[in-house]
Amino acid sequence: MAFTLEKLPYSYDALEPYIDAKTMEIHHSKHHQTYIDKLNAAVASYPELQIRKAEELIQTLEKIPENIRTAVRNHGGGHANHSFFWSILKKDAAFKGEIADAVVKSFGSYEKFKETFASAATTLFGSGWAWLVKDGGVLKIMTTANQDNPISQGKFPLIGLDVWEHAYYLKYQNRRPEYVEAFFNVINWKTINDYYLAIK
Ligand code: MN
Repeated sequence: MAFTLEKLPYSYDALEPYIDAKTMEIHHSKHHQTYIDKLNAAVASYPELQIRKAEELIQTLEKIPENIRTAVRNHGGGHANHSFFWSILKKDAAFKGEIADAVVKSFGSYEKFKETFASAATTLFGSGWAWLVKDGGVLKIMTTANQDNPISQGKFPLIGLDVWEHAYYLKYQNRRPEYVEAFFNVINWKTINDYYLAIK
């Protein structure tokens, strides 16, 4: 298999009560696995793509053969987005580091950042993601539809929040704003600071 599902660096119940264990288990072992399976199917006849990282594939989608480009965009994006999402989750991590300084500088305060991010995540129509990205020299909040990733637009993701219903429906049903509010308790600012320093 070209692309495989990595184990989470924490247990499925590590983010309780904000993100419940059952949602984490199904989201990781079923939804994420399905993106990987479909990405593998898409690149089955392209060994040169099988040895690349999913992030690389979606960073230069124009170089992907046209007949599999949409599949790579959706399932390569799904694989990359979920791997990224798992990596930035940790319960009760402190908001600190250079990234914290940059967030306050860009948005005025942590509260203002939170309000802007929550608004973007809550009002995004349909399935997609809310992001904190570095775009050139500045931090921005943006959303993407489906499994699109900001790296396809030359921006670097620092935070990504999955707002597909499968990410929250078991616990929150239709109450996406509650899920978004809970998310702020499981942002791994240490990892995000590392990502920020790496691209600075
Ligand atoms: Mn998802």
